[in-house]
Amino acid sequence: MSETTPQVVRFHYTVSEVGQPPTESSRDGEPLAVLLGTGSLIPGMEQALVGRAAGDRFEVTVPCDQAYGPRDEALTQRIPKKYFPHPDHIKAGQTTVLQTRQGPRPVKVVKVGMSVVDVDLNHPMAGKDLHFDLEVVEVRDATAEEIDHGHVHGEGGHHH
Ligand code: ZN
Repeated sequence: MSETTPQVVRFHYTVSEVGQPPTESSRDGEPLAVLLGTGSLIPGMEQALVGRAAGDRFEVTVPCDQAYGPRDEALTQRIPKKYFPHPDHIKAGQTTVLQTRQGPRPVKVVKVGMSVVDVDLNHPMAGKDLHFDLEVVEVRDATAEEIDHGHVHGEGGHHH
């Protein structure tokens, strides 16, 4: 088997939980550009984009284990209120962003106590089967520099 050059794919997407209205779309703005094979996409979406050509428009349903994985019910944490940006306004059910050592992380508030807050650290899309509407805008070979950096340069990618 010969080595193939990694591909850069630029595409529009609309995503929804199966049976639900769309939650996110690139169609209001610029298409997303990704370097395939770098793990920047969920596995089910990456598989769906391999071997496509510009102009392809298709829909794909990605089961949760090929998306953000199953929900882990043990992935809740009790955190002191002082770590929240607006501790007096926290309500159960809302999503807020916590600063962690790994960077900002969205969490869902499960329960608010006197001085602590229980949060759910699962990805908001964990445990959900997702439906994607995809339209490929451009497919090209990655440049040596892009392969070296592990991300796309130029349109839809990094500018540096
Ligand atoms: Zn770069």
